[in-house]
Amino acid sequence: MNEIQNEPQKQETKTEPIWVIKGYCKSCKKCVYACPAGVLSMAEVKEAIPGCMISVDRPDLCIGCRHCEYACPDRAISVAEKNEFPFAKKITPEAKERQTKILANDCQSLSTGEKDEKAESERQ
Ligand code: SF4
Ligand code: SF4
Repeated sequence: MNEIQNEPQKQETKTEPIWVIKGYCKSCKKCVYACPAGVLSMAEVKEAIPGCMISVDRPDLCIGCRHCEYACPDRAISVAEKNEFPFAKKITPEAKERQTKILANDCQSLSTGEKDEKAESERQ
């Protein structure tokens, strides 16, 4: 007879907030437009047919909103559950500024720069 388990299953801790199956990505940029936090961009990859590929430039700024996952038509992106990764608690001014610059740069990667120490210290 099967026993009913009252203990919740322990979630595996992830080391990254999101992960990408690059072979599924066709470089449509929808995830870059969808991200509110300047985490994603398109990086130049000469071997890729469109010449660029999704890049997770600033995982430390990710708030775990899943907008990128929902936006991707090819199911190339997965986002960790809230209890699997210490996401940034909110979108910082730096994150907003980065996103504005990325979109103004036709979604191309900016210099990754330094980590946002404030977001780092405010992690969940
Ligand atoms: S989960 Fe939200 S913040 Fe994180 S990369 Fe995706 S869209 Fe950006
Ligand atoms: S939305 Fe999906 S297919 Fe489009 S660039 Fe992002 S990861 Fe690639």
